[in-house]
Amino acid sequence: MSETAIDEVRARIAEACARSDRDVDSVKLVAVSKRKGPDAVRALAESGVEIFGESRVQEATQKIPLCPTGLTWHMIGHVQRNKARDVARLFSYVHSVDSLRLLEALDSAAADAGKTLPVLLEVNVSGEGSKFGLTPTEVPAVLERCQTLMNLDVSGVMTIPPFAPEAEEARPHFARLRELRDGWRDESGFPLDELSIGMSHDFEIAIEEGATWIRLGTILFGERE
Ligand SMILES: *Cc1c(COP(=O)(O)O)cnc(C)c1O
Repeated sequence: MSETAIDEVRARIAEACARSDRDVDSVKLVAVSKRKGPDAVRALAESGVEIFGESRVQEATQKIPLCPTGLTWHMIGHVQRNKARDVARLFSYVHSVDSLRLLEALDSAAADAGKTLPVLLEVNVSGEGSKFGLTPTEVPAVLERCQTLMNLDVSGVMTIPPFAPEAEEARPHFARLRELRDGWRDESGFPLDELSIGMSHDFEIAIEEGATWIRLGTILFGERE
């Protein structure tokens, strides 16, 4: 069943890329396996999916050892500072840095783990929707601090738009994040190439608006309990 779902998702990604004149390889997929078990992960891994996303450290700590080796795990949810060490150990990418203090904790955790951790800043573009995320006005100071954090690779930005029944309603939030990103890029000198936008119901719009990462759960794994 998941094979059909992944085939359909791949076809829809390709169509959205064609419509927006983008290379299909410029859009990377994170399969969001939160609240799904290792069997579901294994089935999708057999279809060639290699990158999985989890939103809770505790769940990931239990699940990852039971999943096939060779997969790459991304943290996509809110992280408490006291979990930074676990995150640096278990994950190879963080989409959801939402405070300066978390950023600093991840930097020292990455140093202790002996790795450079790619991270994205989560931005609450509209002030509605997600209760997490930096406000756009907080971002410049955070980027300034990033200049001195040597164990993180600040690669871009992420947002979760307010839930709306019509996927089109997400478009202005995605477009606004990209505009803000362009300004922060010029100001900070960080390339900030990565835009993590788009979930099951709005990923095609996200691709049209420049997504480099899409985070898909329900459409691949079915509804969560
Ligand atoms: C759960 C979750 C997703 C996936 O959502 P779906 O609507 O199931 O595709 C994506 N991003 C984040 C941050 C999530 O928490």
